[in-house]
Amino acid sequence: MATDNKEVFRDSIATIDDQGKRSWIYPKKPKGKFYSLRTWVSVFLLTTLLSSPFIKINGNQLFLFNVIDRKFNILGFPFWPQDFYLVVLSMLIGVVFVILFTVVYGRVFCGWICPQTIFMEMVFRKIEYWIDGDKGAQKRLAKQPWNAEKIRKRVLKHTVFLLISFIISNVFLAYIIGSDELIDIITSPINEHVGGFIGIWTFTGVFYFIFSWFREQVCIIACPYGRLQGVLLDNKSIIVAYDYIRGESKKGRAKFKKNEDREKEGKGACIDCNQCVEVCPTGIDIRHGTQLECVNCTACMDACDFMMVKTHQPKGLIRYASEENIEKNKPFEVTVRIKAYTIILGILTVVLIALLTVRSNVQANFFRVPGELYQVKEGRLISNVYTYKLVNKTTKDIDSLSFKIVSHKGEIQLVGTTHLLLKRQDIYEGTVFIEIPEGMLEDSNEKIKIGVFKGDKEITTTTTNFLSPKNKW
Ligand code: SF4
Ligand code: SF4
Repeated sequence: MATDNKEVFRDSIATIDDQGKRSWIYPKKPKGKFYSLRTWVSVFLLTTLLSSPFIKINGNQLFLFNVIDRKFNILGFPFWPQDFYLVVLSMLIGVVFVILFTVVYGRVFCGWICPQTIFMEMVFRKIEYWIDGDKGAQKRLAKQPWNAEKIRKRVLKHTVFLLISFIISNVFLAYIIGSDELIDIITSPINEHVGGFIGIWTFTGVFYFIFSWFREQVCIIACPYGRLQGVLLDNKSIIVAYDYIRGESKKGRAKFKKNEDREKEGKGACIDCNQCVEVCPTGIDIRHGTQLECVNCTACMDACDFMMVKTHQPKGLIRYASEENIEKNKPFEVTVRIKAYTIILGILTVVLIALLTVRSNVQANFFRVPGELYQVKEGRLISNVYTYKLVNKTTKDIDSLSFKIVSHKGEIQLVGTTHLLLKRQDIYEGTVFIEIPEGMLEDSNEKIKIGVFKGDKEITTTTTNFLSPKNKW
């Protein structure tokens, strides 16, 4: 329990009442510079999010996260289980990016980029304003008995919500199982894809539940990133902040009176109009300071700027600033910390790009057959037997492949085939004998390098061990 009365708001969250029941939030429709900007950003992000699984580069889906078949595409680059280290590295960079970004820029990600906020505030909430009206009308509608108007509005709203949830569910599955598979499920009779059909409707139900009922609780209760804020933010992080120095001044906030000189009277710039609270989708009062419920949606910034203009005061009473900026009345500056974090992120990104660039499209592995030693053939020719595995990560067949020993003089003999055709996105396995004259070998267990060639062009190389007698002849 908070000891100071001013801190009592921290003992509870705005969306749950004293009895522990849900307190429904009816935020006022935001309007202003930041809301317009966020609308444009969300149009771009939604278009990208909804279209990405259906865009292909060289036959590869732009983004694919098929955990079941362990197939991943990032920006059209296919990642095989063999490339899993790159997926892990990409994810690590993503996590570092989000953490570093949060330490410096607070929850900007939540307000501007997170799909939960974008779908909630820019899709579902807008539909709600369109059908039910603004805050006051929504409250009235909720209280009024079930008459024709309420039934019509509720049926219309929830039908549209369900339809959009269905679309989101399909797109979500297109990221998980692939757009081709999804289209196959949709266009085939239900009994051929019972599992897929159940999956689509299960996720539709989940999204419908989240956006029609659970809403801001995702950010407040469920989201692990939201929970991390407490440890990631410090007094230098940029957050949506109320300038309490200016807002409270000497005598504190006070209602606006016409023709008053607030500065001379020592009144704060805050006119206690409550508009910042009215628009907040998580129901908090940002004037208490930063709180875990704040998703940095900027609605209170717009609302307060509007009131500042109305009362002929400078804008920015609620603005992007750090606690330190507000306390010391300093403008935002690029600090050493911001520079250092940006450099770390830059290095990680360069490492990832370099690994992606040098990554071979064909992967070869040679494994000695377990339990087999070596054979000494006529003319002191040492022979080892191997199984090999070739992976074609490209979307084109690669024909007429051959193997050569690059590090030593010797021969590779294919077993059971004379022609190597590696089909697109396929794995080919076989057996070979590798023969090297004993005189070429210095050690009884020597590393040899094998090249995979198409014509004269070396596609990739791999290494393996070659066994020979300890005592050379
Ligand atoms: S306090 Fe302001 S920025 Fe934070 S969630 Fe509420 S309206 Fe959005
Ligand atoms: S909108 Fe601005 S002026 Fe109005 S109560 Fe909030 S901080 Fe004060």
